[in-house]
Amino acid sequence: SKNAGRNCFQVYSAELKAEADQRNVLEIELREAIWREEIEVFYQPVIELGTGRVKSVEALARWQHATRGFIPPAEFIAVAEAGGLIVELGNQVLSKACRDAMTMPVDVRVAVNLSALQFAGTDLVDTVRFALAQSGLAQSRLELEITESVFLADTQENLRTLQRLKALGVSIALDDFGVGYSSLSYLTAFPFDKVKIDKSFIDRIDRSETVAVLKSIVQLAKTLKLSIVAEGVEASEQAARLRALGIPLGQGFLFSKPVPLADLSWQGHAPQRG
Ligand code: C2E
Ligand code: CA
Ligand code: CA
Ligand code: CA
Repeated sequence: SKNAGRNCFQVYSAELKAEADQRNVLEIELREAIWREEIEVFYQPVIELGTGRVKSVEALARWQHATRGFIPPAEFIAVAEAGGLIVELGNQVLSKACRDAMTMPVDVRVAVNLSALQFAGTDLVDTVRFALAQSGLAQSRLELEITESVFLADTQENLRTLQRLKALGVSIALDDFGVGYSSLSYLTAFPFDKVKIDKSFIDRIDRSETVAVLKSIVQLAKTLKLSIVAEGVEASEQAARLRALGIPLGQGFLFSKPVPLADLSWQGHAPQRG
């Protein structure tokens, strides 16, 4: 009846309101946490599958909420993006990652995730240049990870920014490769240094269709002179299959979860000097 419909709507809107309130609270608390520089940075190694050596580490933001405990980045990054906090948050992660990288072996690079929104507003190239200068990190040791969302808005402007970043001497990786709508076309739109194959492919690596796709990605990467990383490697069986396919690098819980800087281990690396 009419009444039932209205009640239904009221319950629904009350739920929506509760959800919105919760989001607002989270946004206020996140703003505070960023302001107090409480967002931590963890690192997950990227491993050379043939040798087991750490080639790079990916910086991943971590927020330990005072009462709600650990909040996953998938949740708070979205809140930061919606609330206009992502530029400041991104800058903090970038600065910290560059500083931390100075304590790592010199043959290890650090990768930092960029939100598409960091390409708008203040000049990202200046920000990156500043983080490098302030930390003293060589530009060749910094990698920036972007997703195809960077190409969805302001394409020409963002492409120019990417080119200027590359000219700075940092390398650029295309993250979550294969899950987007037109990943392939983005590969030819910009000279990436690396592609990170999304975990969903690694999960299904026992299927012949997946193997066929991975083979063609390997071929393409050769042609485009791209390095390839497999994301979300959880089983040694998967690592073996990846190696057999000619995919040289892997990242995942099989090797290490993201850990605090102090917990990274550097077996086989010369120690950082100075
Ligand atoms: P991403 O960039 O694709 O990062 C990889 C995510 O997969 C990380 O989740 C990592 O912990 C997780 N992962 C790695 N290996 C495995 C595995 O073997 N199994 C499983 N199940 N998961 C694995 P995390 O740290 O929760 O981050 C989620 C996403 O949040 C990231 O996805 C990235 O898009 C975003 N993010 C994290 N930190 C930052 C940041 O500083 N800036 C920006 N813009 N985004 C960030
Ligand atoms: Ca990433
Ligand atoms: Ca990814
Ligand atoms: Ca992702």
